Amino acid sequence: MSVRVRFLGTGNAFADGGRSHACIHLEAPGASLLLDCGGSSLPAIKRAMDPATIQAIAISHLHGDHFGGVPYLVMEQFFAGRTTPLAIGGPRELEQRATRAGAALYQDFFGKTAIEYGLSFVTLGETPVSLGGAEVSAHPVQHVAESDPHGLRVKIEGTLVAYSGDARWSDELITVAKGADLFICESTNFSKADRAHLSYTELIANRAKLDCGRIILTHLGADAQAHLAEMELERAEDGMLVTL
Ligand SMILES: [Zn+2]
Repeated sequence: MSVRVRFLGTGNAFADGGRSHACIHLEAPGASLLLDCGGSSLPAIKRAMDPATIQAIAISHLHGDHFGGVPYLVMEQFFAGRTTPLAIGGPRELEQRATRAGAALYQDFFGKTAIEYGLSFVTLGETPVSLGGAEVSAHPVQHVAESDPHGLRVKIEGTLVAYSGDARWSDELITVAKGADLFICESTNFSKADRAHLSYTELIANRAKLDCGRIILTHLGADAQAHLAEMELERAEDGMLVTL
């Protein structure tokens, strides 16, 4: 059986180059989940697939370009007549933050509507939990601390997909990527120093430490996009489909 990885949004917070916010769909028989659901994800999802087929969402950290699309998806699915549950996993304060975001954006809806299709939240940690037909765990990485940043590891159909979320280089990324068939890694910058994000040159300098197979870069900002031709590693684009 194969795993389909669809890169719906591959941009940074500023949507440099017109790329959508972070959103990656993983699919295998009996499994369908998103890794992140940034603010502009709903149109990106609808361009590629039926949102009703999404069973779950795993959120890496609490920044809007990674979870800001949750209220839109939750509300759209209500009005679309969804009947199946939607589970959302992520950092400890995810439910509170997503609920507050929904109330701020559509108080008239979230303030008085019971989501009857079964919306649930779960805190992700190092012990894998079942989410969307996959086994998902979350591991701390170094990014803006207030966003509670984590990398994700997703076992789906016997295939291990790892995802850095947003992270500057630290050896914690070695743990996130360990044994992965595919490591989806942020590369906001090409070589620019950044206390919150990884650059391509830092990743290359540490590549030998990563015990993983294929690497695909995402969360590409303007600095990275200006140097795409110089990169040897694969780069994601919005709408790109990879089969593992
Ligand atoms: Zn980001």
